[in-house]
Amino acid sequence: MRARIKQRLKELAIDFAALTRSSEPQLRVLLFHHLPQSTLPDFELLISALTQHFQFISAATFEKILRREERLQRHSLLLTFDDGFRSQFEAAEKVLEPRGITALFFIPTAFLDCRSTEAARAYVASRLCAGRISPSEVAADLTPMSWEQLRILNSRGHAAGSHTVNHPAIGALSSDLLLLELQNSKSRLSAELECDIKHFAYPFGNSASVNSSALKKALESYPFVHTGLRGDNRQHGSPAALIWRESLAPDCGAKFGVATALGALDWWYALDRRRLLRWVEHRS
Ligand SMILES: [Zn+2]
Repeated sequence: MRARIKQRLKELAIDFAALTRSSEPQLRVLLFHHLPQSTLPDFELLISALTQHFQFISAATFEKILRREERLQRHSLLLTFDDGFRSQFEAAEKVLEPRGITALFFIPTAFLDCRSTEAARAYVASRLCAGRISPSEVAADLTPMSWEQLRILNSRGHAAGSHTVNHPAIGALSSDLLLLELQNSKSRLSAELECDIKHFAYPFGNSASVNSSALKKALESYPFVHTGLRGDNRQHGSPAALIWRESLAPDCGAKFGVATALGALDWWYALDRRRLLRWVEHRS
């Protein structure tokens, strides 16, 4: 029954997208997390389907478009991956790189520092899943990529962004701890990759995980702050920008993935987007 309702909702989203599709070029960002080996064929189909509607752009091109240094001429898409899983390195190697696609990887730096399976499982359970599961329930393939793999991605044209050190809900931190999470992750990534780190994605991505002062601090540290709220980024142009992202499962289905990427679910996030923009607009 639940599966049938879910399927019907997906179909409605697709119909809605077809009805409301705009011819104006859109600037979209997709967000993926873990990509289990078994989902790679579906992920590949999704990427192929997206290719028919979008041009894939690098983080550097995305920055230029937002800064109005480059014109948005057609639907454009930046791929992002949160949490630094090893499976993302494999998906990049097997699916993205053969197509010449580069992506942006958001890294919680302490996850890549986990030296044992036990430490990684404890991090996933307590940090990435915020204690909702125990370490023994963590899937065996939820392991971090290594720093060496991140350096390889970087050398192949992919980019990295900060996802804090310990993956907290930043709205709940004291200002001292928040500063440590923002700065230490940035300086670590910058030292490992020998480049500037301009992008930050706050953990959990929803409006409940952040507040006005945390968002302001994040925007003081990074020119681009990524949320998990869905929306089109074409209207932005300020030097400090909030980025909307479409979260998708790698096996969500090509039709649903394309419809979502074209904005089928934007309406659901309108109030949250407005709230965050209000927080940012009233920076003092
Ligand atoms: Zn995360």
